[in-house]
Amino acid sequence: METVVPYKEIIEVIKASGGDAFKRCFQCGLCDAVCPWNTVRNFSMRKLVREATFGLTDIETEDIWLCTTCGRCPQQCPRDVKQIESGVALRRVATQYEVYAKGASPIRAIKSGLNAQGNPFGENRETRANWAEGLSVKPFAEGMDVLYFPCCYSSYDPRLKKVARATAAILNKAGVDFGILGSKENCCGESIRKTGDEDLFKRLARENIKTFVDNGVSKILVSSPHCYHTFKNEYPQFKVNFEVVHISQYLFELVSAGRLEFKKDFAKTVTYHDP
Ligand code: SF4
Ligand code: SF4
Repeated sequence: METVVPYKEIIEVIKASGGDAFKRCFQCGLCDAVCPWNTVRNFSMRKLVREATFGLTDIETEDIWLCTTCGRCPQQCPRDVKQIESGVALRRVATQYEVYAKGASPIRAIKSGLNAQGNPFGENRETRANWAEGLSVKPFAEGMDVLYFPCCYSSYDPRLKKVARATAAILNKAGVDFGILGSKENCCGESIRKTGDEDLFKRLARENIKTFVDNGVSKILVSSPHCYHTFKNEYPQFKVNFEVVHISQYLFELVSAGRLEFKKDFAKTVTYHDP
């Protein structure tokens, strides 16, 4: 059997990138037992953690990009290994050296789009509000009740634009005083942060925050869970606190307040999913 000596330098790099909690793992395997990946293919967070503890991580492997950061295993881990943050630390190392596994190679184009146009598709920033053409949607102005922030997908994806248009139509129907910031918006930055590109995330976040503050925004309505999480839980690290509300909550409030009414029964049981 080969004796493997810990690679101290790599351990230090992983630690410096935020993966210090790996060392707390005692290999119980609970993370693998609850990980949804293992219903469709083999993926072991436990193994990833073990390799990182000894500085044996192969940053060219697909595995460091597989965790979807769903949050299930951190809830179970008896040692608070912080699988998501620690896993992002490995991606940070790969990002630092610009080493991407085949499945993660689109990140290069995504970064370029975010840098140049503020969205991951590299679509023209100036067309960001085109989804609202023909609707009575105003530019956000100070004093309005709420800023509607459709994410990059709802702004550019042909199918998801329907979600943004439907949202605006419902808000208008309920008489909500809302506006959008269109070409002044950036991607919230959630996903690029999960690839370990902290600098790009910070740039996007700071620009968004400046735009919100300059335009007098205090309440932000979102339909993307990524925007919701980022604005609510991650932007406060920049010493700002916007009120963030998800469309599902907001619609419930409007219905409860009698500002929206159902005209007829909808005899189906439905599940709301990330649009
Ligand atoms: S659940 Fe935590 S302690 Fe157990 S193997 Fe996974 S990371 Fe290690
Ligand atoms: S956070 Fe990642 S490793 Fe943990 S259960 Fe979810 S997908 Fe699996």
